[in-house]
Amino acid sequence: MTRRKNLKPETRIIEEGYQHKLAMNSAKPPLYLTSTFVFDSSEQGARFFDVTHGHGSPEDGGLIYSRIGNPNLSIFESRVRVFDGGEAAAAFSSGMSAISTMLMTLFDPDSYLAYAEPLYGGTEEFLAAIAPKLGIRSLPIRAGDHAAKALVELAEREGPPWMVFLETPANPSIEMTDIGDVAEAAHSMEEKGRRPLVAVDNTFLGPIFQQPLKHAADLVVYSCTKFIGGHSDFVGGALIGSEEHIKRVKGYRSKIGTTMDPFSAWLGCRSLETLDVRMRRSNETAKRIAAELDKHPSVLSVNYPELFPEGSTQRAIYEKQCTGSGALISFDLASKKAAFAFLDALEVFTLAVSLGGNESLAEHPAAHTHSGIPAEIRAKIGVGEGLARLSIGLEHPDDLLADIFQALEKI
Ligand SMILES: *Cc1c(COP(=O)(O)O)cnc(C)c1O
Repeated sequence: MTRRKNLKPETRIIEEGYQHKLAMNSAKPPLYLTSTFVFDSSEQGARFFDVTHGHGSPEDGGLIYSRIGNPNLSIFESRVRVFDGGEAAAAFSSGMSAISTMLMTLFDPDSYLAYAEPLYGGTEEFLAAIAPKLGIRSLPIRAGDHAAKALVELAEREGPPWMVFLETPANPSIEMTDIGDVAEAAHSMEEKGRRPLVAVDNTFLGPIFQQPLKHAADLVVYSCTKFIGGHSDFVGGALIGSEEHIKRVKGYRSKIGTTMDPFSAWLGCRSLETLDVRMRRSNETAKRIAAELDKHPSVLSVNYPELFPEGSTQRAIYEKQCTGSGALISFDLASKKAAFAFLDALEVFTLAVSLGGNESLAEHPAAHTHSGIPAEIRAKIGVGEGLARLSIGLEHPDDLLADIFQALEKI
């Protein structure tokens, strides 16, 4: 069978990176649970090592050891970049190891990292507590409508950063940052032949509804634990970008040991095949739930992209860079007591942190995911005491809505 060129991502994702001829004609990739690989000869082993040390041509390389590479890892890496359209990808043991390995590899000790606040809690903690010990200095700008302007002002004071790292939409406020504007500002700061890199944590809407590389970002990072995995059954991460950047990061990854394991990579491949349908279905359900919440008398306000006011900057950013509104909704129930009563009354939703699984989840950001953040910063980033967060899964929308209505009655 010869394959046609120019296939769409939804088609490519089913077969990319896998040749059944190399695996006893198995229609699906087998799981390669092995830590080490056999050389045909000492000479061949020496050649494989040469290639991992950056000598010779990559075609002469081969499998050595699963911390460096494994067939399941390679298949997952060739697939996870398909929707974003990146040249190359690296897979990691978690979203946090993707982020930390990227920063440790690419950082420039003579400059600093600019980051749009708020980032995922684990990332903020890494930047505050661990990065400085490694020599990685970081300075915040506020995410949202004025991020590009804030970046220009920061660079006027401190010089250009080596990287700008942002996350859009923000969690759990769903506030958006204009990737294209930030990239344009960053890329205009070229100095001594170097320009700041732009990296985007695309876990919330990507890769189906937001593709940062198409808005001039250099790198895209994922927690594959969330939508990409989609079944809440493994922890993983991915980084997508140019061959050159990914090659450097993989070199560090094999030394630090933050590589994704074969079983997670296998689960990730299974998941990617249904990613598009899963995200579109949960998006449709979430749109309906957000609209109903918005009308409910017990709900003060709802954070969801489809509800951004016409004519607002947030609406303009949403329409410019997103093709769907996603499955995350947060809303204000006025007090912690009301929010707890609502959450504890849910019967179909599962009370748990994390997001992006096929089961719908509910949590209280101020007391759960964002409890490590001081109260005054929580208030600044839109995490009030009455806020509840929902991650919409694949259950029937009628059942989810009925569950929400009955739980709202209990407050
Ligand atoms: C969960 C998450 C992470 C961290 O990923 P892990 O797989 O839990 O390490 C990073 N960024 C965002 C936006 C996340 O939601």
